[in-house]
Amino acid sequence: MAHPLDPGVRDLRAEPSPSPASRPLSVTDLFSIGIGPSSSHTVGPMKAARAFVLELLARGVTRVARVHVELYGSLGATGRGHGTDRAVVWGLAGHHPRSCPAEVITTLIPQVAESGVLRLGGRLDVPFDLARDIEFLPRVTLPQHVNALRLTATADAGPPLLDRVFFSIGGGFVTRREGEAVVPLDDGEEGGVVVVPHPFHTGAELLARCAASGLGVAALVRENEEAMRPRAELDARLDEIWEAMDACITAGLAGEGILPGGLNLPRRAGRLYRELRAREAAAAGWDAAADDCPVVPRQTDPLLVIDWVNLFALAVNEENAAGHRVVTAPTNGAAGVIPAVGKYYLSFVPGATQEGVRRFLLAATAIGTIIKTNASIAGAEVGCQGEVGSASAMAAAGLAEVMGGTPAQVENAAEIAMEHNLGLTCDPIGGLVQIPCIERNAVAAVKSINAARLALWGDGTHTVSLDAVVETMRQTGMDMMSKYKETSEGGLAVNVVEC
Ligand code: SF4
Repeated sequence: MAHPLDPGVRDLRAEPSPSPASRPLSVTDLFSIGIGPSSSHTVGPMKAARAFVLELLARGVTRVARVHVELYGSLGATGRGHGTDRAVVWGLAGHHPRSCPAEVITTLIPQVAESGVLRLGGRLDVPFDLARDIEFLPRVTLPQHVNALRLTATADAGPPLLDRVFFSIGGGFVTRREGEAVVPLDDGEEGGVVVVPHPFHTGAELLARCAASGLGVAALVRENEEAMRPRAELDARLDEIWEAMDACITAGLAGEGILPGGLNLPRRAGRLYRELRAREAAAAGWDAAADDCPVVPRQTDPLLVIDWVNLFALAVNEENAAGHRVVTAPTNGAAGVIPAVGKYYLSFVPGATQEGVRRFLLAATAIGTIIKTNASIAGAEVGCQGEVGSASAMAAAGLAEVMGGTPAQVENAAEIAMEHNLGLTCDPIGGLVQIPCIERNAVAAVKSINAARLALWGDGTHTVSLDAVVETMRQTGMDMMSKYKETSEGGLAVNVVEC
C-alpha cells in the first residue's frame, strides 16, 4: 500500500541519529539495562509509550476514551515476534525498561486482556483491547525512519487529546516528530549539555586525541565520561552494567525448556553448561557437583575455550529471546557478544581484574560511538552488520584494550571484527530474535577474540581504517534491500519452514 509519506531513499549521513540532549554518547547509552528481545522493537517502543503517557498526564488529562497505537514499517512487520505490542502496553502503564518489575512483565498483559482495562501511568483507566487498539501496519513506512509508531489518545468527542509519532532508531534510542523536525526523546534517564575534554566522532579523531593526550582509548573515554558524572558514579554504573551482564549469563546457564514465540526452539545453554563442567571435572579430577565456580580453565582440549565463549553468548541470547532482563549491547539482538567476551576475559585471560572489565566497557563504548555516529547500530537500517557486527567490533576493541593494546591496535581490532561482518543481513525467522540471532552472537564473540588477537600480533599499522570499514558498512546497509533489514521478508525468514 502506498503511503502519503512514502520513504524514498534515505541517507543516514543526512540524518544522523541524535544523541540524547546535547551531550556525546555515553557508556550508559550504549549499554542500557532493559528487556528482551529487541532494543529497537521492544525497549524503544516501551520508552516511547511511557513518554507519551507521561506527557498526557502532565497535561492534566483526567479522562481518556481510547488510546490507539499504530506500528509502522519494521515494527509492523516483526513487532509480534519482537513483543512490540506487549512493550507498548508496559510503557503505557508507566514502566521504564530499566526498572520494570519482573512481575509486571509476566502479569500485566493477561490482566489487561482479561479486564479490558489499562491503567495509564498507573493513574488513569482506559478501555483497552489489545487486538483493536494496537494496529500492525507493515506496509506503511514513514519517511523519517522504518521503525515508527504513532500513539493517539482521544476523548469521547472532539480532537485528539494527544497525538505523537516516535521513531525507535536502534539500541533503545528513541526520537519523536516535532513539526517537521525529529528530535531526541529525553526520557528523564540522562540529559543535559556537556562539553567533554576529548571529543571525537571518527576513528581517526580518536587516535589523534589519544596521541595528543598520551591516553589509551579506555582512559580517554573515562575522562569524557567523568565530564558527565563523577568518577564514583561512573564506576558504579560500569559495575552495574557488568553485574547485569554477568547475572544474565548466570540466568541463561540455568535456562531450560522451549523458547517462546512458536518456533519451538529448545534452550541449549543449560545442557551445554552441565556437559562442559562434567567434561572438565572428568579430565581434571574435581567434583563438578561440589564446585560452584562457573568456569574453571583447566580443560585439556585447547579449543574448549571456544565452547565456553559460545556458551556465555548462548546463555545471554536465550535470556533475551525469553523476554527477560538483558543489557542492550549495543542492541538486544546482539546482547550476547560483549558479555561473552567480557566473561572470557575474566575467566581465561591471566591477570584479569574488575578494573579491567571497566576498561573493557569503556573502550567498547568508543567504538560503539563511532559506529553509531557515522553509520548505524540498527538492523532495520543496515542489517545485522549494524547489530552483531557493531557488537563484535566493540568487544574486539575492549579485549584488545585490556590485553595491553595500544590505541592503534584497539582501533585495528575493531576494524578487523567489523570488516568480517560486512554484508550480514537481518532475516529473523518468524520475526523472532532466535534464528539466526542466538548462534550468531556466539560466532561473533569468538570472532571478536580472534580479531583482538590478530590486532595484538601486529603493531597497529593496517591498510583498512576503522573509518573506512564503518563507511563501507553504512553504504552496504543503504544498498541492502529492505527485505534483509528486519522485516522477515527475505533470507532465512522465507527459506526455512516454520513448524
Ligand atoms: S538477525 Fe541480527 S539484526 Fe536481525 S534481529 Fe537477529 S540479531 Fe538483530
